[in-house]
Amino acid sequence: MSIRSYLDADVHDKRVLVRVDFNVPLDGAEIRDDTRIRAALPTLRSLLDRRAAVILVSHLGRPKGTSNPAFSLRPIASRLAELLGHPVQFVPEVVGEEASRAVRDLASGNVLLLENVRFEPGEEKNDPALAQRLAELADLFVNDAFGAAHRAHASTEGVAHLLPSYAGALMLAEIDALRRLVDSPRSGFVAIIGGAKVSDKIGVLEHLVERVEALLIGGGMANTFLLESGHQIGSSLAEPDALSDAHKVTALAKTFGTRLLLPNDVVIAPTIDSESIRTVNVTDVPADQSIFDIGPITIDRFSQPIGRAATIFWNGPMGVFEKPQFAHGTLAISRAVAESQAFSVVGGGDSVAAVEAAGVAPRISHISTGGGASLEFVEGRSLPGIEILEQHS
Ligand code: ADP
Ligand code: MG
Repeated sequence: MSIRSYLDADVHDKRVLVRVDFNVPLDGAEIRDDTRIRAALPTLRSLLDRRAAVILVSHLGRPKGTSNPAFSLRPIASRLAELLGHPVQFVPEVVGEEASRAVRDLASGNVLLLENVRFEPGEEKNDPALAQRLAELADLFVNDAFGAAHRAHASTEGVAHLLPSYAGALMLAEIDALRRLVDSPRSGFVAIIGGAKVSDKIGVLEHLVERVEALLIGGGMANTFLLESGHQIGSSLAEPDALSDAHKVTALAKTFGTRLLLPNDVVIAPTIDSESIRTVNVTDVPADQSIFDIGPITIDRFSQPIGRAATIFWNGPMGVFEKPQFAHGTLAISRAVAESQAFSVVGGGDSVAAVEAAGVAPRISHISTGGGASLEFVEGRSLPGIEILEQHS
């Protein structure tokens, strides 16, 4: 199945509605990380060069269907203008008279940004009336918001039923890289899964365990696996409700002959803010201590399959990497992935931040801009925002 590319659309003097993912982390009105804005630039430059009139629509945060200045896209418009080297008109509504007027007056080769689409109650409900009003703003639709492609919302899926619709450059690059993962042979495929919870990622764990040669588990979720295999994990974060999930993944690994690697040494402390840390074997975690990182023996053991891999997928940090005293494992694994000759994909907000912090991002084959979306793609699920862009001829 191929995806319709925006490069094949005749956009000259057309009004093109572009769904972007400008859901960036903010500190008040301060943009903490503009990666997602930068990621949209290739599509926007190409459309402007081809003399399209570009209408941008995005969500930001979870305003839950009502206007809320804390989630306004206004600060994003000025940053985008700087990055693009071209003025960006900001329209303080999504649909309505002002938006219609601004769109009508928008000359080819220019760009405007609509207000946060999640201010509209119809967005997350995929309300056909909102999709219709969005469609009326434009002649064509380009979806470049990979990070929102797993959601069937009015601006990702609904509107694509109503206009000729195409994937943008970022969407196409994400699909290419993630397909390479999904299609890669089992031999040489190594997955590293970490982060806080098993329950967040059970789908991907169950899916990957039969498709990879080795599954390396770290982070908070490893605690649940350790507990399931009979270890005492003290006061570590764990999910008693997910023990049966951990059991299932362990059993599947045995059935399929997948190497399932858990930490054998860990960094422990009495609390997350404590600097009095120790490294112990997983068999020696005292009752009043918690596991916050993987230890050096584990780093070494995980680095071996990573070094030999042909394909790597990594989602979820190996420890509480936000605290310098617990960041060592995640940073070391970042470097091991970067040094590997493998085709490597890193997805997940926190994992990507860790790879950036380690300064190795340029040596990762593909950094996904979508956390949840990349997980669902890797799970082999169909993403509604992508499915609607497929060419059925
Ligand atoms: P991603 O955003 O890459 O998908 P997650 O959101 O699933 O990753 O998980 C990241 C969070 O997991 C981080 O905030 C990190 O502090 C937390 N975490 C990792 N290891 C542990 C641990 N051992 N105990 C508690 N929290 C942990
Ligand atoms: Mg996260």
